[in-house]
Order: sequence, then structure tokens, then C-alpha cells
Amino acid sequence: MTDYAKVSYWLESCGDDLTPRESLDGSIDVDVAILGAGYTGLWTAYYLQQQDPSLSIAIVEREIVGFGASGRNGAWCTSGFGAGPSLLTKRYSVQVATAVHDAMVDTVAEVGRVCEAEGIDAQFQRDGEFLLARGPHQIDALDSVMREYDQIGRGDFCRRMNATEASEFLNVQGIAGAVHQPASAAIHPGRLVRGLARVVESRGARIFERTSAIKYTEGVNPILHTDNGDVRAKVVVLAGESYLSEFPKLHRQVMPVYSLIVLTEPLSGSQLEEINWTHRSVVHSASLLVDYLSRTADGRILFGGRGAPYHWGSKIRPEFDNHEPTHQRLRETFTEWFPQLGEMKFTHAWGGSVGVPRDWMPTMTYDRATGIASSRGYTGEGVAATNLGGRVLADQIVGADTERVKFPMVGHHSRNWEIEPLRWIATRYLQTAAIKVDQKGARTGKARTGRSIAERLIGH
Ligand SMILES: Cc1cc2nc3c(=O)[nH]c(=O)nc-3n(C[C@H](O)[C@H](O)[C@H](O)COP(=O)(O)OP(=O)(O)OC[C@H]3O[C@@H](n4cnc5c(N)ncnc54)[C@H](O)[C@@H]3O)c2cc1C
Repeated sequence: MTDYAKVSYWLESCGDDLTPRESLDGSIDVDVAILGAGYTGLWTAYYLQQQDPSLSIAIVEREIVGFGASGRNGAWCTSGFGAGPSLLTKRYSVQVATAVHDAMVDTVAEVGRVCEAEGIDAQFQRDGEFLLARGPHQIDALDSVMREYDQIGRGDFCRRMNATEASEFLNVQGIAGAVHQPASAAIHPGRLVRGLARVVESRGARIFERTSAIKYTEGVNPILHTDNGDVRAKVVVLAGESYLSEFPKLHRQVMPVYSLIVLTEPLSGSQLEEINWTHRSVVHSASLLVDYLSRTADGRILFGGRGAPYHWGSKIRPEFDNHEPTHQRLRETFTEWFPQLGEMKFTHAWGGSVGVPRDWMPTMTYDRATGIASSRGYTGEGVAATNLGGRVLADQIVGADTERVKFPMVGHHSRNWEIEPLRWIATRYLQTAAIKVDQKGARTGKARTGRSIAERLIGH
């Protein structure tokens, strides 16, 4: 059996015995059947219970609670959303972009509120989000973020910092400026997902672990078919994020993109002071290839990034969680960021896949005709967005007419990803091109033109 503590530091340190719960044993009838015990599935169960405590809910999980991205992520409970303000403005309107932004800011607070109310010690700390320029070539990107918020009437959301202010906030080698926003929080992802599971179970939801859904049947009485029996329901919720690509009907709806992480040993108080990371603000740079950092409650630094190879046919395999060249690049980049720390010891390395829709726009939809609900496609920004997704699905399922169900994620269906070999060729090309664009900027000190194919596609 899988040693679940080895999946990530978060599962190892969540404080739970990771022995799997019971599997499903024969067919059952419930009101709501949920595929996946990650944040999406659990938040949906949580808000359904809030709205209608009489609902019977079964959650079917192939491995254990938190096995997927929810137990592996970068700990950013970010107010960011897959489709950012510019994209939402372009596709819908300024009003929609503003409403989604405001909802996401409130969603981060909601995660904190639930942790507090339910006694989930997820080490939630709301010190905001810090976007830094690692050199003059990334300054333009900071200014464009400022403009983006200005255009949706939230110009005061972010604070622009010059190089001195930025390095006083976080002493990164070569820092040329930064933007700080106060909304995002750092969490312990494993404690959040495992704690949520306990809460929904205590209110009557049943979680079947080591139970794999092999297909689902749509209809007035939809069914989740598993390897251990059928879960017959009134509503089936597909909350499998990147893994949903394994179902033929959803195969090209979300593309699994690997994101990898390395983690240091705990830094001493004086080491944290030396780099000014005494807060727990989450951090990233304006490079084209995504990077993300966070600080654990016990002083470790997590350094995550994209760039691990995409796998033909959107395959997800345990062996893809570790890609030594990418992990090594992350360790080296950490040393470039913080040379004053000298040789740091890295204690953990892991990875997982994020679900990327073709248009970067999450879907949060319940279709009464098919009996299927699904919230997915968070594009690597799902820690908070799953909470919004859970609330939006619960509202639709119980028929609550809230402002949330008017968001464009409701009823949204992304265009399909290209078929292979096009998907493989394009994704591999973009991954290499993004690294080259970043390297060129660092070498020449010049800002990105925004005109290369890689920039246009990655920057949407
Ligand atoms: C390395 C990494 C870093 C990330 N960093 C961040 C971050 O810092 N901030 C942020 O906002 N987002 C981040 N994300 C994204 C975020 O973690 C996800 O968007 C979010 O956790 C998605 O939650 P979910 O419940 O929808 O999916 P998941 O957590 O993936 O849960 C899906 C569950 O479904 C189960 N499952 C799959 N198929 C089946 C089946 N057939 N039958 C039964 N069960 C099945 C899986 O085992 C899994 O437990 C990161 C993701 C990764 C991988």
C-alpha cells in the first residue's frame, strides 16, 4: 500500500494517522455522491450540510483524504483566480471582474472564518501576497498588475514598493521592486483538508477511501460507479480536478500540468530575520515560468515552480511527482534568491498536477438535466477558489438564488484542449520558451515585449 506520509510534507506533518478509512462495500443510495476528497468535494459537502443538514452525502476517494493537489500545494490561500481581472474584463465586463475579485478576497476570509469556527488548526495566517521583480526586466510586470487593479476600480488593493521598501519586506538578491496585496493567507494545506474531512464526517457525511470511481451515469438519478459498488444519487459531484481528465468525456476539459516543490529545514529566528521573512506573506516573482514561495509556521521555506515536463496523453502517474532536474533547478534558484543563507538543507521534495482548462476559466456548474455538478479548472489557484466552488455548487444544488450563482463560472464550459500530438508539442514548446524568455530578460535587463508566442499564450 502507498506510504501516504511520503506524498508530501503536508500529509506527513498533518498530525493524523493516515490509515485509510473503510472502502465502499456494495451499492448504496444517497442524496449527493461526491467524487474526490480534496477541498472541492469537502467544501461542497460542508456547505450542503450548512444549507440542508438532512441531505445524505457520500464521498468516494480513490486514495485518502488530501491525496490530490489539496494535500500537496504551495500553501497559498490566494485571492487570485485562474482568470484574472484583465481576462474577465475582456471576456465579460469590468463589473464581473470586480465582483469576482471581491468574492475571492472574501473567500480567503471565509476559509479563515470556517477554520476558526470549526476548530481546524490550519495555521491560517493572513499576511498577504508579495509579487517581486527580480531585476529591472520584471518591473513592467509590476506596473501592469497595478494598472489591472486600477482598471477594475480596486487601485488601492495593492501597494507598489520600490527596491528599498521591497528588500526591507523580503531580502531577495537583486530585488528591484514589488507589489504587495493584503488579502491572501498562508495555511497548512494538509491540516485544512484533513480537518475539513473530520468536520463533514461529524455531521453525517460518509467518506469511503481507497474506492475508485470508474465511470458515472448521467440522468434524473445519476450514478457514480466504483470498483466496490454503485453510489446511486440525486446529484453526482465531480470534484477530481486534474484527475477528471481520466474520464473520456472530460479528457480534454482539464490538462494536468505538473507543479513541483522543494522544502527547506526550519530556519532559525536569526536566519529568518536576515532575509526579513518574519511575516508569512506568500511570495512569487514576475517571471513567466510560475514560481511560488511560502513560509511554514515552523520557519521552513517552500519553493515551488512549474517547468516539469507535460506527459503525453495528459497522463498522471505517481512517478511524475518527482522530476529531479526540476527539483534541482528549484533548489538552485532558492540559493540564487537567498545567497546570504549559504548552503541550506532541503528535507522534502514532491509534486502534483494542477488542472488547467483551455481558457484558464474555472467551471462551477450543476446541470439538473444530467444530474452532474462539477467545480474544476482552478489553474493552480484552487486553495481558496475551491471554497467559492463549494459554495456555488451547494447554492445551485439546493436551489438558492444567491449573487454567486450569477457568476460566469456557472454554466461555463471551456473549449477542449487540442488532441495529441498537438497538445504535447505545444505544451512542451511553451515550457521551454518560457524558461528562455526569463533567461533573456535576466541577461539583457530588458522587459518582456509581450509579443512572443509564449508570452501571449502563457499570459493569455
Ligand atoms: C504542487 C501544487 C502546488 C499548488 N499550489 C497552490 C497554491 O499554493 N495555491 C493555490 O491556490 N493552489 C495551489 N495548487 C492548486 C490547488 O491545490 C488545487 O487547485 C486544489 O487543491 C484542487 O482541489 P480539488 O479538491 O478540486 O482537487 P484535488 O485536491 O486534486 O482532489 C481530487 C481528489 O479526487 C481523487 N480522485 C481522482 N480520481 C478519482 C476517482 N476516479 N475516483 C475517486 N477519487 C478520485 C484524488 O485522489 C484526489 O484526492 C497547487 C497544486 C499543486 C499540485
